[in-house]
Amino acid sequence: MKNIVIIGGGVGGTLVSNYLSHKLKEEIREGKTKITLISDRDKQLYEPGLLYMIFNRMEEGELFKELTYLLDPMIDLKIERATKIVADENYVETEKGRYDYDYLVIATGSRIVPEEVPGLVEGGHWFYNVEGARRLRDELARFKGGKIVVSIMGIPHKCPVAPIEVTFMLHDFFKLHRLRDKVEILYTYPINRVFTLENVTEVVVEYFNERGIKYKTFFNPIEVDAKNKKIITLEGEEEPYDLLIAIPPHKGSQLIIDSGLGDRDGWVPTDRYTLKVEGYDNIYAVGDATNLPVSKAGSVAHFEAEVISENIAAQIKGLPPTARYFGKAMCFIEMGFDLGTYIWFDYETPPKLVKPNKFIHWSKIAYNRLYWLTARGVL
Ligand SMILES: Cc1cc2nc3c(=O)[nH]c(=O)nc-3n(C[C@H](O)[C@H](O)[C@H](O)COP(=O)(O)OP(=O)(O)OC[C@H]3O[C@@H](n4cnc5c(N)ncnc54)[C@H](O)[C@@H]3O)c2cc1C
Repeated sequence: MKNIVIIGGGVGGTLVSNYLSHKLKEEIREGKTKITLISDRDKQLYEPGLLYMIFNRMEEGELFKELTYLLDPMIDLKIERATKIVADENYVETEKGRYDYDYLVIATGSRIVPEEVPGLVEGGHWFYNVEGARRLRDELARFKGGKIVVSIMGIPHKCPVAPIEVTFMLHDFFKLHRLRDKVEILYTYPINRVFTLENVTEVVVEYFNERGIKYKTFFNPIEVDAKNKKIITLEGEEEPYDLLIAIPPHKGSQLIIDSGLGDRDGWVPTDRYTLKVEGYDNIYAVGDATNLPVSKAGSVAHFEAEVISENIAAQIKGLPPTARYFGKAMCFIEMGFDLGTYIWFDYETPPKLVKPNKFIHWSKIAYNRLYWLTARGVL
């Protein structure tokens, strides 16, 4: 009997589990293979929906689905928090028990750590988790004028384009509410341009300028003065705000840090082609959990899941594991409430930006409804 254990019931973990159960259905039926998914939550959150929830364009209930609905019934689902990976002895400890494995897939994602910026919890808002999105939605509905600062407070963070998207959506939101002339919008980014990719930067700056959205680069917040509503930066600036929308710093799962498998911030050292965890032949990492130089995005987790499941299934069937990941990523970029574009790239191919148009925006809206079919491995 071969045991495959997957930790994490997000995009990556669900897809690896479903693809594997599809590829190995005979082996599972014959009792030769078992797939166990360990998740600390019984539901999956569709994180891209948070961006729409803050503008009341998606409801909270639409963003969650039960894992029992998403997973193939042949997968053994355990709702438990994994507490330690003992990699040299091939087992995982959870708060309830122990799981031995022949193959392990780490799909524990990333988490925001707003508490790492002094004053941010007291003085800021964010939309990178449900609690934050709820608070921000209510705050935006109350906001009648003043200065909004959208500030990226650490790289890497999930969905690199989400801060740009929220900025364009803020513009449209206040325009629709006839308040745009009373709201100043400032976007800040830590490096010398508004985004890491140069050709995206060019288009974003053009559209920012057209919409009167201001921006500052080389802006690295180290503290928020919640009482006086000011952001203090490494560069020595003090930026006042009325509403701060932060992208808080991110870290990998505490499990990775506690198991001694990651770097200081809990990112798992992963081979960029095989997706094996460095130093281990039978452990793979997928999605946000890795230290790979690719976007922390659901699409990346999706493409990586295809490679990992193919290689594990091949090994179980006695075939050579020849699939490789070449950095494939695809990101929609919303440029407001009725305009969108997308980028598609990999390790060798730089992203090409399609001219923003309404059709791409509506494709994204459609994808928001279709996502659950992707998670089930159907689409
Ligand atoms: C606002 C926002 C907008 C976004 N928009 C897009 C977009 O448009 N397109 C796109 O491609 N991506 C987008 N993303 C990014 C995308 O949501 C993530 O990259 C994706 O969810 C990563 O999948 P994952 O499986 O690696 O991690 P996750 O989906 O975070 O799943 C990890 C799971 O592991 C669980 N876990 C962690 N530790 C343990 C443990 N010790 N024991 C058991 N379980 C554990 C967690 O609870 C979680 O359920 C967006 C993200 C945000 C926040």
